[in-house]
Amino acid sequence: MDLTFSEREEAFRREARAWLTANVPKERLPSGDTREGFARHLEWERKLFDARWAVVAWPEKYGGRGASLMEWLIFEEEYWRADAPNRVTQNGVFLLAPTLFAWGTEEQKDRLLPDIASARHLWAQGWSEPNAGSDLAAVKSHAERVPGGFRLYGQKTWCTRGAFCDAIFGPFRTDPQAARHKGLTYFLVPLRAEGVTVRGNARLDGDEGFAEVFLDGVFVPDRDVLGKVNEGWQVAMSTTSSERGLSLRSPGRFLATASRLVDLYRRSRASADPTLKDRLARAWIDAEAYRWFTFQAATRMSEGKPLGPEASLSKIFWSEMDIALHETALALLGARAELEEAAPDAVDHGAWMKGYQFALAGPIYAGTNEIQKNVVAERILGLPRE
Ligand SMILES: Cc1cc2nc3c(=O)[nH]c(=O)nc-3n(C[C@H](O)[C@H](O)[C@H](O)COP(=O)(O)OP(=O)(O)OC[C@H]3O[C@@H](n4cnc5c(N)ncnc54)[C@H](O)[C@@H]3O)c2cc1C
Repeated sequence: MDLTFSEREEAFRREARAWLTANVPKERLPSGDTREGFARHLEWERKLFDARWAVVAWPEKYGGRGASLMEWLIFEEEYWRADAPNRVTQNGVFLLAPTLFAWGTEEQKDRLLPDIASARHLWAQGWSEPNAGSDLAAVKSHAERVPGGFRLYGQKTWCTRGAFCDAIFGPFRTDPQAARHKGLTYFLVPLRAEGVTVRGNARLDGDEGFAEVFLDGVFVPDRDVLGKVNEGWQVAMSTTSSERGLSLRSPGRFLATASRLVDLYRRSRASADPTLKDRLARAWIDAEAYRWFTFQAATRMSEGKPLGPEASLSKIFWSEMDIALHETALALLGARAELEEAAPDAVDHGAWMKGYQFALAGPIYAGTNEIQKNVVAERILGLPRE
């Protein structure tokens, strides 16, 4: 592994930094998991797209810059360093789009990718159901063949930002007789269509971050099947590898949090406590370790090697680290940690408590950490299967 950046990469970093410094909104946007905040975030994401920074690693014809994986990681570092808004398009950009690149027809890619990149068509992930979370192959929502396409029935739940989106992507049962993994098809389903009811619901922090989606005979044309009919499991696994792999939570996010934590420590009255100093050092070292682990994985991938089950190691590591980073901040803040954004004495707009509440979800979404530990045990350590 080469530990230096090339001149091209350094130039790319300078260009990204200059643009972000000049353009990141100066005022803090409302949470992207509220209706108002979502709309404000979209304005930002469209500006990002117009300057060709929305999807840097995509081919130019879809609005990208054809950047390498390493350059994308560099862009992410600069993005979070600049304290730019969370990407509310992340499910389309980081989960559906890589799946389209892998499985989509040319027609699907040409039709769908530009609108994902420019935040004009907004996607939520429609996977989980009331009785199918970790066990995705247990999905019961199903599709029936009709002329020109399918009619879909069932219920999806925990769709992040689903109340504000235009469509969901996910697996539906198309062959009830086949073995669990074999009778699924991956559909792209419109949310503003006859037969769909979307019900937003609140998260722990009160934001309407989730939606339940009820489907009662909604029509999906053949052109919105991704991959082959009854082969949706393979397509879903490709989305999963993006979710656990590099794209959902890049190191830049945690490097920025660790650096803000160091800043908080310097401002904090609790800084005399030596145990907090240790936790601070640990947090910073962990963020750096994740960075180098990711560069190593990116180097392997750019040599054409697959990411493989190591993605599960990453997922466990970043989700636990995120909680530790925020817990350290709360310990530094003491009782002031509980002051919410509007409180006059709130430190950093109450962002540490809000960040902590979201960090608690990290071990659950993108495949729970218990499931990831099963993968590590069986596929990396070679322990016997359950
Ligand atoms: C913030 C957040 C955002 C989310 N966004 C979305 C979204 O956009 N779209 C979507 O479809 N879903 C989303 N989800 C749902 C998420 O994917 C599920 O919560 C997750 O897959 C777990 O499923 P479950 O909640 O049904 O729990 P279950 O699968 O019922 O698991 C319950 C517990 O049992 C453990 N467990 C289950 N099976 C095993 C096993 N084989 N071995 C060991 N332990 C096991 C789990 O680890 C967990 O602790 C989101 C969740 C959160 C928290």
